[in-house]
Amino acid sequence: MAEARGRRDGGAEVLWAPWRMRYIEAPKPDGCIFCTPAEAPALRPALILGVTAHARVMLNKYPYNNGHLLIAPRRHTAQLAELPEDEFRDLMSLLRRAVAVVETALRPQGVNVGMNLGASAGAGVTDHLHWHVVPRWTGDTNFMPVVGAVRVLPQHLLDSYDQLRPYFAPPAAAPEGEFRHSHQR
Ligand SMILES: [Zn+2]
Repeated sequence: MAEARGRRDGGAEVLWAPWRMRYIEAPKPDGCIFCTPAEAPALRPALILGVTAHARVMLNKYPYNNGHLLIAPRRHTAQLAELPEDEFRDLMSLLRRAVAVVETALRPQGVNVGMNLGASAGAGVTDHLHWHVVPRWTGDTNFMPVVGAVRVLPQHLLDSYDQLRPYFAPPAAAPEGEFRHSHQR
């Protein structure tokens, strides 16, 4: 678990691709982590912050930093090209919103946004595409690195969840229109 993440391949690489962590040794959950049921009361245990018609946003269980979010389409696919236009737009809208929430709630000094397509590109989950949103603070790579193979996060995951959830939970005012629970799955 802990030892599976945060392997440093060199400072510069970590800086531009912080999501390139090793998930290989992490226990694999049954099924796809982006296709688990997204209905209460499963949301909090699954760290799912919000669900739109075609996408979901959740906290990364193996975060690089506090507030490390994953934004995935609801369609189980590894191919961007397989997303119909409306689903792609919904995904991008949620991505934009996730960045805005992170900036508002956590006030980072910067944000990494990226997507790894394929294991060779560093994807931990290779068959369901997803965006990473990683808030950054100057110097976080100095005190965040692995110490004794255990990454120390200053904030517990569920604390992060409770802090961010109101920004995604309806009826929290959605600047980009409706943001609703849907009933897929
Ligand atoms: Zn999936």
